Amino acid sequence: MSRLWSRTARDLSPYVPGEQPRLADLVKLNTNESPFGPSPLALAAMRTAAADDLRLYPDPEATELRQALASFHGVTPEQVFVGNGSDEVLAHAFVALLKQRRPLLYPDVTYSFYPVWAQLFDVACETVPLDDEMRVRIADYRRDAGAIILANPNAPTGIALSRAEIAGLLDEHRDIPVVIDEAYVDFGGESAIPLVADHPNLLVVQTMSKSRGLAGLRVGYAIGDSGLVEALVRVKDSFNSYPLGRIAQAGATASVRDETYFRESCARIVEGRDALVRALGELGFVVLPSRANFVFARHPAMDGATLASALRDRAVLVRHFARPRTAPYLRITVGTADDTRRRVAAASDILGTRAT
Ligand code: PMP
Repeated sequence: MSRLWSRTARDLSPYVPGEQPRLADLVKLNTNESPFGPSPLALAAMRTAAADDLRLYPDPEATELRQALASFHGVTPEQVFVGNGSDEVLAHAFVALLKQRRPLLYPDVTYSFYPVWAQLFDVACETVPLDDEMRVRIADYRRDAGAIILANPNAPTGIALSRAEIAGLLDEHRDIPVVIDEAYVDFGGESAIPLVADHPNLLVVQTMSKSRGLAGLRVGYAIGDSGLVEALVRVKDSFNSYPLGRIAQAGATASVRDETYFRESCARIVEGRDALVRALGELGFVVLPSRANFVFARHPAMDGATLASALRDRAVLVRHFARPRTAPYLRITVGTADDTRRRVAAASDILGTRAT
């Protein structure tokens, strides 16, 4: 540890992103990326944007992208905030909205970046345990709170709450900011965006990294009352006023406008998930009911760490979270049909069973 580090840098426990190895012929199912590329229209728009005017700064307000998102989601551009991946949008939300005098609530098992931002920005927080079935129980949030953040579907469980349940949560917490992180909502979840109209305290965060196959571009966004968006803009303009470059704005805008490609790739991933769940079930895995582009599964005969490392030896990468409640499980991204076949063959080899 360097003597030159600030106290802040010394005290951090940073988020650990999933591995991005440079091995050939790997089945990479550890970071919930899309197995399909971005929309061809998005690729074409980015090629066009790779031009001489890159010498100019981009539009700091990403006006066209915000307009495209507003019309896609049936809101106004003033209700849309965009950032460099939803991680950046969420980080700004921690500073702009979630840091309150009373504690921020989130589940004990959820996106592991939340505690990291809470620490970085010195946000008072309390975790609320998932129930015995690894579900978020809205009734457990009926307590004194300064703000709430929930991932829906939750990560890494993949389990989703209905829009009615989110509405119930909002009815009980009308005066505090509530952030719903919908990184995985496009694979069969119900978005809370329709609730924004009646709930000026609701911010919904989404990403282009999963369902739009653009993890490499880094584009995320939030939709909420213009009052909440204004707070996010204040933080953004105190940190980096050009979070999205020209190429990212062009590609993301074209992606949002290509609704057909988006719907088709989501449907294909849902089909792939159904096939993966069936195949894992046949191998004896217990799989939580997922509405995401990944599944969270455990095998009664082998602990998660052993299984993850044996899969890695067979060139299949999955994610394992070594905390007490998650240790038995593996988080497996839905890949192509071929990825699923190879993954199931490797697991079957490890477990000494035959996939039927
Ligand atoms: N929220 C959740 C629940 C996630 O799992 C992720 C992906 N790690 C993100 C947000 C961030 O995604 P991105 O920054 O790529 O938009």
